[in-house]
Order: sequence, then structure tokens, then C-alpha cells
Amino acid sequence: MNRVTSYLKSLMLLELLAGLGLTFKYLWRPKYTVRYPMEHIPKSNRFRGLHALRRYPNGEERCIACKLCEAVCPALAITIDSAPREDGTRRTTRYDIDLFKCIFCGFCEESCPVDSIVETSIHEYHFEKRGENIVTKPQLLAIGDRFEKEIAAARAQDAAFR
Ligand code: SF4
Ligand code: SF4
Repeated sequence: MNRVTSYLKSLMLLELLAGLGLTFKYLWRPKYTVRYPMEHIPKSNRFRGLHALRRYPNGEERCIACKLCEAVCPALAITIDSAPREDGTRRTTRYDIDLFKCIFCGFCEESCPVDSIVETSIHEYHFEKRGENIVTKPQLLAIGDRFEKEIAAARAQDAAFR
């Protein structure tokens, strides 16, 4: 009996009509999809995207080469070399992040005592050549310089919860 009912249903295209009915039901309702990349959904100020190294307003780099971020990184994605400068302060001579290893956990920015290494809201980037997955200190500082306003605003919004 079940087979006969099923056969009749198929013959009368009832399931197809039910599907089309559902489509028409939602045709004029508000859409929940966005036309990416022209449209974007709002992002949390805690979004963990591409990294950046920040500077103080006087242009001095914040990083003091304490290497806490390198030690805490569970993916061993950060490589730091450091040396004292002429003024006696210690600074990094190399600060690399391997984005193929990074799992965007945010531990590096949580561990940084001077708010130097941060993760920005940038998630649209790509690599064209082998080795470009290693982001170097000059690149990280350049990202920080370019997006400092957004980074500072996001951290100010989140300050009460830190
Ligand atoms: S986000 Fe996590 S995995 Fe990536 S560099 Fe920072 S600590 Fe390492
Ligand atoms: S980025 Fe922060 S945690 Fe990492 S070495 Fe520099 S000061 Fe230390």
C-alpha cells in the first residue's frame, strides 16, 4: 500500500509542488544572506584576524622584546630575535609570524604587557608566492600604523572586559 501511495505522490509531483510552495512562501520575506564582498556583516571588536604591531603616539614601537608572546604561542608560530639598542633599551631585530601555523587563538595579544602585538579585524588577505605566509616585523608595524585608529577603538570598546 505504501508503495502505491508513494508512486501516486510521485506521479502527481506533490513533493515538487510542496518544495515550490516553500520557495514562494519565503520569496518576499527579509533575506538573511549578504552579497559578500559588496556587503559585510558586523564584526565583534574581539575578532581575531591578521596581526599587527603597534606603536606609541610618539612613533616609538611598543614591543620590548620580552618574548612572552613567543613563549605562549601554542602553534610555535612566532619567532623573535632581539638585541639592545644604542640607548640601552631592548628591541626585536626580528619578529616573524607564520600564518600557516597560527591558529588565531589570541594568546599572543593576551600575553603582551604593552599591547604591542594585536589581532586586527582584517580577514581578507591572500598569498601569491611561497614564503609570503611569514609576516615580518616591518609588515606587522606597517599594518599597525595603517589601522591604529581602528585597533585603538576596538580595544577601548573592550577595555571594561579585560
Ligand atoms: S594567535 Fe595564537 S597561534 Fe597565532 S601567533 Fe598568536 S598565540 Fe600563536
Ligand atoms: S609583542 Fe608584546 S609579548 Fe611579544 S615580545 Fe613584544 S612586548 Fe613581549
